[in-house]
Parts: sequence; C-alpha cells; structure tokens
Amino acid sequence: MTIETTIENEMEAIWVVADQINGAINPVTFQLLGQARKLADDPARKVACIIFGDEIGGLTTSLVGAGADIVYKAESSDLKLYQQNIYKDTIVALAKEKQPDMIFLGSTSVGRELAPLVAAALNTGLSAHCIDLCLDEEGILEQKIPAYGGLMTIICPSKRPQMATCAQGVFATPEMDEKRQGITIDVPICNSEFQKIQTLEIVQESLEGLSIETASSVVAGGAGAGDTKGWDLIKEFSDTLGAALGCTRPAVDEGWAELDTMIGQSGKMVSPELYIGVGLSGEQQHMVGIMEAKLMIAINNDEKSPVFEQVDYGVVGDCKEFLPVLINKIKES
Ligand SMILES: Cc1cc2nc3c(=O)[nH]c(=O)nc-3n(C[C@H](O)[C@H](O)[C@H](O)COP(=O)(O)OP(=O)(O)OC[C@H]3O[C@@H](n4cnc5c(N)ncnc54)[C@H](O)[C@@H]3O)c2cc1C
Repeated sequence: MTIETTIENEMEAIWVVADQINGAINPVTFQLLGQARKLADDPARKVACIIFGDEIGGLTTSLVGAGADIVYKAESSDLKLYQQNIYKDTIVALAKEKQPDMIFLGSTSVGRELAPLVAAALNTGLSAHCIDLCLDEEGILEQKIPAYGGLMTIICPSKRPQMATCAQGVFATPEMDEKRQGITIDVPICNSEFQKIQTLEIVQESLEGLSIETASSVVAGGAGAGDTKGWDLIKEFSDTLGAALGCTRPAVDEGWAELDTMIGQSGKMVSPELYIGVGLSGEQQHMVGIMEAKLMIAINNDEKSPVFEQVDYGVVGDCKEFLPVLINKIKES
C-alpha cells in the first residue's frame, strides 16, 4: 500500500528527529517512534521521522518498521557528521511548511543541543527530559517531568509544534514490523555558505568499567561521598561487587564522576537486578532513572532520609565506616 503524501494528510503529524551517528541509529529514535505511533492512533494521524546524514538510504526501512509513515530523508555529503546549523535550518523550514503538531527528539548529545534551537526558531515551547508523553482529553500533549516531589505535567496549549525530549529507556523499544508500509521523501538541506558552527570530528569517549545500562548490578554514589577519597571508596566497593558505577548530579558537579554515568531524569535510565545507592537522598530526578531496578538498597547516615521510603532494604550508617567492613566481608566470602 502506498500512502498519499498530500500536504493535507501530513498536517497534524507527530514528528521524531532521528539520532544517527556513523550509520547507527540511537535506540531512543525507535522508542520515540513507538510512542509517537501510540499517540497518533487516536485521533488518527501520521507519524513522520526526519533523518539526516550521508548515504542513509538503507536506514529508512527500520524507521518505518518502528512506526513512521513518512521518512523525510535529508541526505548530503555535507552531513557525514552532525551539523548544527544545517539540521536546525532544515527542520525549521520543513516544519514551517508542513506544520506538525508535535516534534520529539532524544535527550542525546545532538538532541539536547538541537531541540532548543529548533524550538526557539519556531517560537514554541520545549519540555526537556520528559519521563512520559500522553494526550489529555482534548488531544493536547501532556509532557510529564519529575518536580516538586511529584510528577508535573507541562502543556503547550497555544503554540505549535509541541516539543519534547526524552532519554533512552523512557519508552520501550517497539517490535520491528517489517510489513509496515511507509514512504520516503527526499528533502533539500538548508546549507548556507557560511556555517557559524561546524562539527569537524566526533570523538567517542571510552568509559572505564562496566556500562550502567547493561550491568546486572549498579552502585550509585551521591554527594554523601564527601570528597575524592570517599568517592574512591564507593568505586572500590562497586569494583569488589563486580557492579557498574553510576552517580547522582552532585558527583558529576564535583568532578568525581563522568556525566555519562549519571542516573536519572537528565541522565541514564537503568534496569539492573540489583541497585545500591550510597550517600544519596533519593531525589525524584535521580530515582526516576531506576524505576525498573529489581532489588533496591540504600546506604545513608540519616535515618530520616527519603531514600529509605523508596528502597527495599536500607542501611543507616556512615558509608566511610560501613563500606570498608562490607568490602572486606565480600572479599572474604
Ligand atoms: C531538571 C533537573 C534534572 C535533574 N536531573 C538529575 C538526574 O538526572 N540525576 C540526578 O542524580 N540528579 C538530577 N537532578 C538533581 C537532583 O534534584 C538532586 O539534586 C540530586 O539527585 C541529589 O543528589 P544526592 O542525593 O547525591 O545529594 P543530596 O540530596 O545532597 O543527598 C546526599 C545524601 O547523602 C547522605 N550522606 C551524607 N554523608 C553521608 C555519609 N558519610 N554516609 C552515608 N550517607 C551520607 C545525606 O544524608 C543525604 O541524604 C536534577 C535536578 C533538576 C532540577
């Protein structure tokens, strides 16, 4: 079946901007397409995906299989790498023409930079790091973020498109439907001669140790580490246990841990069998990142810490005293 592509039936569409680097599409793109597909079913409307890159013709089938009806393909030898201005100007020009109702991007390095640029250029709102996207009774997008100790709903009632970013793992990856039919439309890139900012090279940082996204045990360290020595102790505990080491925001701010290992709303979503939070208070922005963890334990020196209400087992104690004992016990066993 071929889908007709009149301007009329592209109106009111839900768009996803694909995140593609070196020919690999980030899983968050498929996850957002799956969620867009659910939102697009009632009321019925189209899901479109915009993909940028060089020699990306082979990637469009998977975008359709994950839920896209239309793939806008912006292909150019100038797009071997992500180029901020070209991506932004092309999305803005296309959005002004097609008038989508919503645009979703992944909270990736590219999405975090691109989304606010596009939103500002389209004079619309943007909710970053949403942990759910649904529709209210009138079909307005409800953009859920953790705030004030609960879930807050942000809406963008008058401006269009409604824009949101979500991290990888917020939505499940949809099953690939290889029989789905969609169409690909080539779109010209907006490439002004003078690019204010150019990407010259993308360097993949290699992180030490296990990945928090795939490890079956994760230790997360927080501000309670106190200093570098305290952080090294949490790292030693994590290594002894054979767990991956994650962290809260203050550990990144203090320079103890890399941003890539931060768990939570603006970090990574993890789903280990075992999660141990050390010296962290259980703030919601962190805890949304471990909603899928099976067994949760917290070590905190404040017996009234809210983290204890959210975990299966709690240890009240100073981690600097407790961890060395625990490390020795694990080594002896
Ligand atoms: C929009 C937004 C997005 C955010 N996104 C994230 C995110 O993705 N991830 C994230 O982590 N944060 C995020 N934050 C920050 C978040 O709100 C919290 O500030 C942060 O999670 C708190 O980190 P913490 O628990 O380590 O520190 P704190 O809240 O300061 O807690 C430290 C805990 O350590 C305990 N402690 C102190 N000393 C010891 C000791 N010796 N032994 C044992 N326990 C001790 C204390 O009792 C305390 O409970 C975000 C905030 C905002 C506004």
